[in-house]
Amino acid sequence: MSDLLIPLNRPGIVGREQEYIGQALASDHRHGAGRFTQSCQKWLEQWLERECRVFLTQSCTSALEMAALLIDLKQGDEIIMPSYTFVSTANAFVLRGAVPVFVDIDPATQNIDPQCVERALTRRTRAIVAVHYGGIGCDMDYLCALASKHNLILIEDAAQALMARRAGRSLGSFGQMAAFSFHDSKNISCGEGGALVLNDPELVKRAEILWEKGTNRSQFLRKEADKYTWLDVGSSFLPSEVTAAFLLAQLERANEITTARQRVWSFYHDKFARFGEVANLPAPPSDCVVNGHIYYLVLPDRRLRDAFIEGMRTQRIMTPFHYVPLHSSPAGQRFGRAVGALSHTDAAGEGLVRMPLFPSISDREMEQVVERAITLLDGFKRGFAEPVYRRVKSQHA
Ligand SMILES: *Cc1c(COP(=O)(O)O)cnc(C)c1O
Repeated sequence: MSDLLIPLNRPGIVGREQEYIGQALASDHRHGAGRFTQSCQKWLEQWLERECRVFLTQSCTSALEMAALLIDLKQGDEIIMPSYTFVSTANAFVLRGAVPVFVDIDPATQNIDPQCVERALTRRTRAIVAVHYGGIGCDMDYLCALASKHNLILIEDAAQALMARRAGRSLGSFGQMAAFSFHDSKNISCGEGGALVLNDPELVKRAEILWEKGTNRSQFLRKEADKYTWLDVGSSFLPSEVTAAFLLAQLERANEITTARQRVWSFYHDKFARFGEVANLPAPPSDCVVNGHIYYLVLPDRRLRDAFIEGMRTQRIMTPFHYVPLHSSPAGQRFGRAVGALSHTDAAGEGLVRMPLFPSISDREMEQVVERAITLLDGFKRGFAEPVYRRVKSQHA
C-alpha cells in the first residue's frame, strides 16, 4: 500500500501562469480592468457563443452579489433555488433582503427539480437560480420557459460549470445572468476569482457602474463622460491584473484540463456502473456534455456514508461529503424557507461522497481509489438490509 495521500483535488499549474503573472508584475497596471482582465473576458465571451458581456470578479460569490444588486430586490422578494448548493447561492440575495426559497433536486443529477420550482412560485417570486451541480446542466429548456412565462429572472450559478454544455449550448449562456467561479476547488482556477455573465444587453450599462464601485470610471476612461463621479450603488468587484494573468493562463488550457477531467469522470462511471443498487450514481441526460467537475456516489444513508469515508481514509484516500442542505442550516432556517419535502436533498446531504478528481491524478491512483471503493461497496452490497435496498431502488425510479 502506498502511503501517499490521494486528495480530492490537486489544483495544477498548467501553462503560462508564471510568465503572465511576471508580465503583470512588470507592468505599471496591476489594478483591475487591464489587458489580462480584458483577455479573460473576451475568452469567456467567445466560449459562451452568444451575444453577451462578461465582467471578471473577485469570486463567484461577488458575481452573485452583483447579480442580486442588478435585479433591484425589495425586502421580502423571493428567489427560488435548490437547497443542495453552496451558501453563496443564497447569501448574495439575503444580503439584499430577499428570501431564499429552497426546493428539492432531481436525484438523477442533484440539480434543481423544475417541477418543484413551479410549485414554489408565489406573487413575490422574482428570480430562479439554477445551480449546475458538478458541471451537469440543469433542465434549461424547462426553466427558461417557466421564467419567461412568469416574467422571472433566471440566473445560472455556473460556479462548477465552465466548459460544460447542454442541448448544444454552453452552460452560462441560458439565463439573463450567470456566475462562474475560479476558486482553487474549481476546474479552471486562479486561487480566488469569478465572472459575471450578462446575456441581457439591457443590464450591461448599469453592471459596468456597479462593478466600478458605483462610478462611471469605465465611461470616463473611454472618454464617454467628462467627469469621473459617483452614479449608483456598487462595490469593489474587480480582481487585480495579477489574478487575471493567472486566470488567462488557465483559460488557455481549459480544453486540455476538461478532457483530462472527463477521462477520470468516465473511468469512475464505468467502474461504478454495477453498483447502481448500493449507490445512486450521476445520470446526466443524454444532451449534456459533462465537464468532469465532480464524480459522486450517493450512499443509502449517513451510516454507510461515514463507513465509506472512513474506509477510504484508512487507505489515505479523501472522499469527502459535500453540502449540508441550506434548508437545514442555521442561517438557511433563519433567512429562508423550504417548499415541499426535499427528500432527495436530504438523501444527498446524508449520503453523497466525492471521488478524487483532478487532471494530474495518475492511472495508478485512479485504480487505487476504485479498488478500495469497490471493496467497500461490495461489503455494503452483501450486508445490505432489504429496506435500505428498496430506498435506493426508489431513488432510481
Ligand atoms: C464554489 C461555488 C460558489 C462560490 O464560488 P467562489 O468563487 O468561491 O465565491 C458558489 N456556488 C457554487 C455552486 C459553488 O460551487
